[in-house]
Amino acid sequence: MGPVSDLLIVGGGINGAGIARDAAGRGLAVTLVEQSDLASATSSWSSKLIHGGLRYLEQYEFRLVREALREREVLLRLAPHIIRPLLFVLPHDASMRPVWMIRAGLWLYDHLGGPISLPGSKAVSFPHLEFSAGLKGGIRRGFVYSDCRVDDSRLTVVNAMSAREKGATILTRTRFEGARRVEGAWEATLAGADGVARTVRAKALVNAAGPWVVDVLDRIQGDRITDRVRLVKGSHIIVPKVHSQGHALILQNPDKRVVFVIPYEQRFSLIGTTDVPVANIEEAARITPGEVEYLLAAVNRFLARPLAASDVVSSYAGVRPLYDDGSDNPSEVTRDYVLKVDHEQGHVPLLTLFGGKITTYRRLAEESLAKLAPFFPGMKGDWTAGEPLPGGDVAHFNGFRDEMRARYPGLPRDLVEGVVRRHGSRAVRVLGEAGCLADLGISFGAGLTQREAEYLVAEEWAATAEDILWRRTKCGLHMTPGETDAFAAWMGEARRGSRSPG
Ligand SMILES: Cc1cc2nc3c(=O)[nH]c(=O)nc-3n(C[C@H](O)[C@H](O)[C@H](O)COP(=O)(O)OP(=O)(O)OC[C@H]3O[C@@H](n4cnc5c(N)ncnc54)[C@H](O)[C@@H]3O)c2cc1C
Repeated sequence: MGPVSDLLIVGGGINGAGIARDAAGRGLAVTLVEQSDLASATSSWSSKLIHGGLRYLEQYEFRLVREALREREVLLRLAPHIIRPLLFVLPHDASMRPVWMIRAGLWLYDHLGGPISLPGSKAVSFPHLEFSAGLKGGIRRGFVYSDCRVDDSRLTVVNAMSAREKGATILTRTRFEGARRVEGAWEATLAGADGVARTVRAKALVNAAGPWVVDVLDRIQGDRITDRVRLVKGSHIIVPKVHSQGHALILQNPDKRVVFVIPYEQRFSLIGTTDVPVANIEEAARITPGEVEYLLAAVNRFLARPLAASDVVSSYAGVRPLYDDGSDNPSEVTRDYVLKVDHEQGHVPLLTLFGGKITTYRRLAEESLAKLAPFFPGMKGDWTAGEPLPGGDVAHFNGFRDEMRARYPGLPRDLVEGVVRRHGSRAVRVLGEAGCLADLGISFGAGLTQREAEYLVAEEWAATAEDILWRRTKCGLHMTPGETDAFAAWMGEARRGSRSPG
């Protein structure tokens, strides 16, 4: 058995990766295990918003909204390549919330988190040259406010990369099988992709297993955490874009929920989400025809050109691992996070996370380290608010993108732009000295090249075609079935090792 590390983190979603980064930067020896790919679960199934959560104001979740609004500003500075400002248009519907209530909510949204760099909210009359795009003619007024969108799976990966650069060991395709306290430390069993079991030791254990949080608790001997998780499924559909402007829509639904229509991957709109309680993760494997119908009905109340099921080009379903606060209505279960520590006479702690948002992952990590601080007296203080994430050290993203276009005049503009959006300042590591497309090896389609795929395998733990086509990039959405098959065949070949992509 090897040396005793400080932290063993179970789960390579945004929360596990965020804690790994924070802890490694404070000088702790960290190992993170993820049973599948990084961000292969909830952290790639989200609505991809870094947002305060306007809707949560109605549920009096002021703590959460304030923290999330503050984090929006912080995260925009740390990762401006994968987090971008986004305007939201809320068309007013007189049968829903009254104007005074929306105005009050938006005022609070502009002020609750302190100073904001994004544009403040405003009321607009329709028809409007820009903001009534795609909407039915009868709508007379609306409101515009700011939030941000994020590439959720890339946010997870860049946190893991930063953790590794600060000394953490990140083991993907490695399953946590169980743990028990032995002689003042955790002794944990891990199983790799080859099925071979190994034992590691750590001074503290972090359960960041998202929807599997209780399954992981059940694998830990002697834990006394009795809190439970509420699994609430949420699904999205992807359709050809519903208007030509750059803003998102937030649409009120008669059941008092809201549905987002978010510009997605240049050519598409992402529509979501639903709130369906499920008993287990398997029940949330894919979107149901009923959910597709619900989302289409919600948007068709507002869209000038109604959408049909045949417009849906792709979809995904996920499950929110919410803290069970006893609410009857799945839309009202708290979206805030809850951290629980179990320890044995001041030793060998187990920290378990329930709930949380992508938006609040960095604060959740700080709170987690604060809970663990008594067990690591020499540990350094908070630091993650000030250091950009890998690729994020570009002060003005648009200026940097233009610089990169000028630096690579021989490469297709869209390809350079895609690489810059994914990798930020690290785009240079991907593109190197390439003068023309052929310098980047095979072109698989949608701007994905052999050079980038090899980089993703070598630097970002990508191991399968799915990891690359749907999480490290979204090229899968733009490729033809023939192109994705050809890429999968190449990955199979690459992994057998004649070439050396990693
Ligand atoms: C439909 C939907 C929309 C959402 N929209 C937003 C949004 O717009 N903005 C926002 O801020 N938040 C949003 N959220 C919330 C956000 O996505 C989640 O709170 C967040 O991703 C949870 O991250 P996590 O790391 O806790 O869990 P996960 O990402 O699920 O990670 C847990 C990981 O643990 C691994 N694991 C489990 N068991 C084991 C084991 N035994 N061994 C090793 N690994 C294991 C899993 O494979 C998984 O990768 C949304 C959620 C959903 C479902």
